[in-house]
Amino acid sequence: MATASAMSNTTSSAGSQVVSELRTAFKSGKTRSLAWRMSQLDAMKRMLIDQQEQIIDAISADLGKPRFEAFTTEVGFLLSEIEHTQKHLAKWMKPTKVKSAVVVQPASSKIYKEPLGVTLVIGAWNYPLQLALGPAIGAISAGNCVVVKPSEVSPNTSAIIGGLLPQYLDSDCVRVVEGGIPETTDLLEQKWDYIFYTGNGTVGRIIMTAAAKHLTPVTLELGGKSPTIVDETADLKVTARRIIWGKFTNAGQTCVAPDYVLVHQRVHDELIAEFKNAISDFYGDNPKNSSDYGRIINERHWKRLVGLLDSGTITHGGEHDESEKFIEPTIMTEVDGDSAIMAEEIFGPILPVLKVASVDEAIDFVNERPKPLALYVFAKNKARAHQVIQHTSSGGGSINHVWMHLAVPGLPFGGVGESGMGAYHGHHSFDLFSHKKSILDKPTFVDPSVVYPPYGDFKKNVIKRLL
Ligand code: NAD
Repeated sequence: MATASAMSNTTSSAGSQVVSELRTAFKSGKTRSLAWRMSQLDAMKRMLIDQQEQIIDAISADLGKPRFEAFTTEVGFLLSEIEHTQKHLAKWMKPTKVKSAVVVQPASSKIYKEPLGVTLVIGAWNYPLQLALGPAIGAISAGNCVVVKPSEVSPNTSAIIGGLLPQYLDSDCVRVVEGGIPETTDLLEQKWDYIFYTGNGTVGRIIMTAAAKHLTPVTLELGGKSPTIVDETADLKVTARRIIWGKFTNAGQTCVAPDYVLVHQRVHDELIAEFKNAISDFYGDNPKNSSDYGRIINERHWKRLVGLLDSGTITHGGEHDESEKFIEPTIMTEVDGDSAIMAEEIFGPILPVLKVASVDEAIDFVNERPKPLALYVFAKNKARAHQVIQHTSSGGGSINHVWMHLAVPGLPFGGVGESGMGAYHGHHSFDLFSHKKSILDKPTFVDPSVVYPPYGDFKKNVIKRLL
């Protein structure tokens, strides 16, 4: 349980004091060894295992998140990220040899993976544990000090992170600062060596502006409307089950949730029927009673989502209850491309389905809009699926599935254009928080005078040949 002193230590530090203390710790060199990095990852693993029940209680209190879902998408996700990192870390840390060019021979050339220094991770509320600690795994594995700023919109999870992390990890080098805009603004005034932000694009611009003052590099993990294209050759039953699962996990509050569906007009009605079957198979006839269905984070978002319910025809669902911040899994048809629900990322359990006459039309629709974080295409016809992947741009995506690409640590996860910059997970997190330092090592036993002036014709010819 969080102790009062642990909490006050982490919450009351002004940004400048935290940064200065961490800078001293970083300069001491203690974060650089493999042993320190492994010990911190071990500690985080222990924390997630020992305190699993109360962590899940906190996440469920914030989001009404089903307990099993809170385990798989937050605690379990982090445990596998730690395990993967620990398995490979020693290898990732080793300098990588590259071939030395003829012109520098004899020599050896290596890339050293150097920690950046004191880093800041700002998390978002929708996966409040995963998005605060996931990037921190990267920062620690790369040998950095890190401040974690969880989202204040999910206060129970923020408090549990603020209480537990100092009990388990090395507080000289890993801190939690809780709070909202004033605390984050204070943090952003400091000079960091890296800022990793997850959230919306409006705040993303604030982060980048603040970082620019200090020439601090940033990763921005943003959102957007992730399109889901269903071709007439798709296996409609499996397609529907996968889309419904991906959309209604966390009550649609997932950055990579299918935002809307573009379906070939010939299979529209059949897909809608399969959507209804899948919803009733997964959540029963009354999803409000399902222990596998979550709630909306707060009243503001609940009201925003309810306001979108008149953007088209509600073909399924639409029930909502403010006292529980509940919105039923909802399928909407007859949706106009210019309607309110198509203007912004939905981030809730409403799935608009729009008809298209061809894959080309779907591609044009996607390309007329900002680049999304993910794009999904369902088709048995492989050429058509690849046509979509090759002619659209998105942070990532899947063919015949939704956001399962996040479960592959070898695949970098991040956005492009409006959906963000920089990517992480697995060794990509290690790379993101490391500077790749290029070092040439040249012996002195030969030092041919041909490289030095004065350059006569002979020397010039030799050098030109070597280049
Ligand atoms: P949020 O409200 O939790 O904000 C994110 C962080 O920004 C918080 O820590 C908050 O304290 C901070 N913040 C808010 N206003 C600020 C300000 N004025 N100055 C400085 N910091 C400020 O989360 P949100 O923005 O509502 O998150 C939802 C968005 O995030 C969606 O667009 C979603 O798609 C996106 N998202 C992206 C990913 C990803 O991995 N790419 C993951 C989750 C969410």
